[in-house]
Amino acid sequence: MRHLAIIGSGPAGYYTAEAALKTFGDDVRIDIIDRLPVPYGLIRFGVAPDHQSIKGVYRRYEKTALNDQVRFVGNVSVGKDVSIPELGELYDAVILATGAPNDRPLAIDGSDLPGVIGSAAFVGWYNGHPDFVDLNPPLNGKSVAIIGNGNVALDVARILAKTRGEFVGSDIVNTALESLSAHNIVDITILGRRGPHQIAMTPKELGELGELERATPFVDPADLPEIEADALLEPGVRKSVTHLRNFADNSRDSGKAISINFDFFAMPVAIEGDGKVEQLIIEKTTLDSELRSIGSGERYVLDCDMVVSCIGYQTPAIEGVPYEHGRGRFANSEGRILPGLYCVGWARRGPSGTIGTNKPDGYHIATLLGEDLTSNSNKPGRAGLDRLFESRGTDIVTFRDWKNIEKAEELRARDGSPREKFTAVTDMIAARQL
Ligand code: NAP
Repeated sequence: MRHLAIIGSGPAGYYTAEAALKTFGDDVRIDIIDRLPVPYGLIRFGVAPDHQSIKGVYRRYEKTALNDQVRFVGNVSVGKDVSIPELGELYDAVILATGAPNDRPLAIDGSDLPGVIGSAAFVGWYNGHPDFVDLNPPLNGKSVAIIGNGNVALDVARILAKTRGEFVGSDIVNTALESLSAHNIVDITILGRRGPHQIAMTPKELGELGELERATPFVDPADLPEIEADALLEPGVRKSVTHLRNFADNSRDSGKAISINFDFFAMPVAIEGDGKVEQLIIEKTTLDSELRSIGSGERYVLDCDMVVSCIGYQTPAIEGVPYEHGRGRFANSEGRILPGLYCVGWARRGPSGTIGTNKPDGYHIATLLGEDLTSNSNKPGRAGLDRLFESRGTDIVTFRDWKNIEKAEELRARDGSPREKFTAVTDMIAARQL
């Protein structure tokens, strides 16, 4: 028997559990520990609420979760309720699948002004994450700047631009839907410090911006490289760039209330305002021979009432676990951190790739575990964890409890929505008895 503790119940955690079941058959017991009483991490709190088909992947994780050899241990904070060394005593392997829930810092003057929001907070807010439910973003202004040219920037722009009707079928939480429905935003600017050929936006997500009821995307034709150069791009990027070329043809007389303006070669260098964000100071850039952005010295000002920084994420460090600060992830060699301690998914590679990228990652870790673990474990595994939690009075939330919470969220959903999430941990815990 091998006893595994996986920290984090998002895609990386569940793909690893699925792979460990395949690798070890009946000879493994897996506890998936999560800080929150609800599973699925990024699927619940990161994937956009209007992308329900992507969120549907949770059904695959549920199959793993319902296997008798796998247990969900929710409402347990590693570092507070139990430490990594304690888990190391109890399990043959501890696998950190903690994702990258923290924003990479914007680190420019004024980035601490009210109205400057990181995408983790903004996305968490509209997805009902208990940590961000009280964010109260300033949506009363007319102009928003979004920094970054990745898919998260697109998610944020699209969520800001959609009408109430366009959220039918989504599971955006009611509080966010109400605030978004009442906003006065007419200008959304998406800033990229490099050019159209360097975007990290995928074609489907970019194409969605062109189909919004009340918003039109615009690209300055002068920012686009010669069309012949598109032939050298990877097919996916080429498709994305084709969308940008189409946006460059859009007429300003579209009659739609909201403009989504792509501003390329635009590096934010400071944020200014009297007690809150009012202006973004931007430096024009050019690209060097290695396609890095370099400031040209030419600056201009964008008036804005809110800034959402979508420049990537970091894994939170854990005391005693080696960490690579520059890359915001655990220091590891192919997933091995220290003997008995592993990492997987964004905690291993940094925040890149799609949800599906975590599948081979999870299978890779299971292969390493197969190489590293002997079958004759003398660790107590879950029985030991239960004894420890009993002695501490730690209240865990099980998968069966989660199914009750899920049922309660489905029952209180508004018409056409799959669920209305509880946004307070206390409400989640109360709903498990229903
Ligand atoms: P990302 O894809 O890494 O994009 C980050 C963007 O921020 C890049 O354009 C980067 O520019 C820019 N940036 C970084 N530091 C900056 C700075 N200091 N100033 C200005 N710009 C800066 O990250 P993401 O959008 O957070 O997405 C994370 C991952 O989740 C990605 O793999 C993404 O594809 C995935 N995701 C997928 C979906 C979907 O499939 N629907 C939705 C959301 C997220 P440079 O290129 O110049 O560094």
